[in-house]
Amino acid sequence: MKVEGSCFCQSVRYEAIVDPETVAICHCTDCQTHSGTAYGVVVGILEEGFHLLSGELKIYEKVADSGTVRALAFCPDCGTRLYAKTVGEGSSFFGLRVGTVRQRDQLVPKRQVWCQSAQGWVHNLTDIPQHEKQPSLG
Ligand SMILES: [Zn+2]
Ligand SMILES: [Zn+2]
Repeated sequence: MKVEGSCFCQSVRYEAIVDPETVAICHCTDCQTHSGTAYGVVVGILEEGFHLLSGELKIYEKVADSGTVRALAFCPDCGTRLYAKTVGEGSSFFGLRVGTVRQRDQLVPKRQVWCQSAQGWVHNLTDIPQHEKQPSLG
């Protein structure tokens, strides 16, 4: 499936070929901290399937305990994270951050990973009071 997307400030724009069957929610602690929220949502793409149309990405390399290096790409102006991929030989997983994809309503998660570090409340969102927009906090 061909998709297009951008960062929050629109300076980075891309198009990519993704496999909707690979959409995953990632509850790992790296995703929690790096996204500044409770979990990441990613979709798998092929490296040849990602094309930057405008802007430049900054890369932060994170070395895991296993020695695996993950390249985390983000917009240097607004900080939006665009993708993460494994660096080096046999690197295959290239996860595009679904929140940056214009067609994200069509990318429904098929599995959840790193559930051992999931926040306790995330599986019961329907129990939390809901508002159509942000209510006044007064
Ligand atoms: Zn940006
Ligand atoms: Zn993760």
